Amino acid sequence: MGSQSDSSTTFAKMPTIKFTKLFIDGEFVHALSGKTFETIDPRNGEVIAKVAKGDKEDVDLAVKAARVAFDHGPWPRLPGSERGKIIMKFADLIDQNTEELAILDSLDAGKLLSEGKSMGIPGAAELLRYYAGAADKVHGQVLKMSSPLQAYTLLEPIGVVGHIIPWNFPTSLFFTKVSPALAAGCTMVVKPAEQTPLSALYYAHLAKLAGVPDGVLNVVTGFGHTAGAAISHHMDVDMVSFTGSAEVGREIMKAAASSNLKHVSLELGGKSPLIVFDDADVDLASDLALLGFCFNKGEVCAASTRLYVQEGIYDEFEKKLVEKAKALVIGDPFDPQVRYGPQVDKVQFDKILSYIEHGKREGATLLTGGKPIGEKGYYIEPTIFTNVKEDMMIVKDEIFGPVVGLMKFKTVEEAIQRANDSKYGLAAGIMTKDLNVANTVSRSVRAGSVWINCYFAIDKDCPFGGYKMSGFGRDFGLDALHKYMQLKSVVTPIYNSPWL
Ligand code: NAD
Repeated sequence: MGSQSDSSTTFAKMPTIKFTKLFIDGEFVHALSGKTFETIDPRNGEVIAKVAKGDKEDVDLAVKAARVAFDHGPWPRLPGSERGKIIMKFADLIDQNTEELAILDSLDAGKLLSEGKSMGIPGAAELLRYYAGAADKVHGQVLKMSSPLQAYTLLEPIGVVGHIIPWNFPTSLFFTKVSPALAAGCTMVVKPAEQTPLSALYYAHLAKLAGVPDGVLNVVTGFGHTAGAAISHHMDVDMVSFTGSAEVGREIMKAAASSNLKHVSLELGGKSPLIVFDDADVDLASDLALLGFCFNKGEVCAASTRLYVQEGIYDEFEKKLVEKAKALVIGDPFDPQVRYGPQVDKVQFDKILSYIEHGKREGATLLTGGKPIGEKGYYIEPTIFTNVKEDMMIVKDEIFGPVVGLMKFKTVEEAIQRANDSKYGLAAGIMTKDLNVANTVSRSVRAGSVWINCYFAIDKDCPFGGYKMSGFGRDFGLDALHKYMQLKSVVTPIYNSPWL
């Protein structure tokens, strides 16, 4: 079992929560209804702040502001280099407020403060800079036509984008969506998850300070079935870029189909396999396996929660993994010694514990963990099941918590077949020294990302997204920039040319 650190101590000076209203057309405003909702600290269940509860009529205002900014405002018409300068300034302002921003995500989502300060917040600034640098390098093509025509293509911003994001990486996912869309010249309405609204509102404030024109970046805090659904059904939203569960992804597609056939990009859930072959370094493989299901307390779309280990090293691997899981320090995410904090909220906490109970009833063997930690807050032990099969609920469903199913396999073919036995296809990991095995498995496994002798190797240069029910569309890299653009073909006739 993981041990708990002393959560009575706080390791950072708590900031005053400055931004709790909707951000529409460059101003912080109350929801038209005047209603608010509480955002909760998962360390203790206490209220952090009351935040404006946006609904359909607020979304209407935000979309109107974004529409006007797109149809008549400067942002889509600026040279890419000018947009790039403003986006660079936005990134600098994030760097100047790293500590405060990291604290907001730790309070809202139970994320490790140390990781927020060293990776999450600086990574967001770097992502903005990446796309700022790309903003003036967007070009169409000149086409050689087969008829007497001159033609070229233009890449144009897609229009008003609705970004709907989940709670597990409030900052990273905000910028995964917003950075390429800003660089492309789009205007947008962002709906952060109801569990984690605070940092998104702070980013709206920084965008304004950086010089992003009013109406370009709007943030509507609120719930999915109200504010989120209003975005996905809206006739004036040209695209919804969604990250979240497959169930809600389906609703977004239905809404797009029944409204204006808006473009849709879906980054959904996963149940990713990590396959460890007999020739792998068992220490490294067990470290990566632990990271794969415990990083961010298992609240990661690409978590490796199906762990396949070849029979020759299985016993040694199992022993090491269990020892390492028992030694993990779990507790206050503000404590630098801690490896993971509380689950995001009571709903998620209860869901994970009910999956664990279900796993026991299904006949799986609990090797370690399985229980909540402490009396206060939403902490759960790292949990390892063995004697599991692909048709069990704990192996089929995305649990989104620190729970893994450990399975033994014999051959490469068996590993491939079992790794692909899932409705999801977000990521896969392979641990082997044999290049031929690595190449064979990486080509055979149906997943959007394959990591060989590493895990969570996510990088802003490298496209990331799903196969199968893990969605479609790619984040990161120049693919994501192009996702927020559409292609126009411009054609003119060439009369009587002697050169044709
Ligand atoms: P969720 O689908 O419940 O919610 C995501 C967002 O959608 C929230 O902002 C929510 O308010 C909104 N929403 C809910 N119902 C809606 C509706 N009917 N219409 C419009 N919007 C609606 O997901 P979650 O629980 O917040 O996040 C966890 C899920 O996100 C997991 O499945 C995880 O795998 C996935 N995820 C995927 C990626 C990826 O890149 N593939 C990254 C992070 C998280």
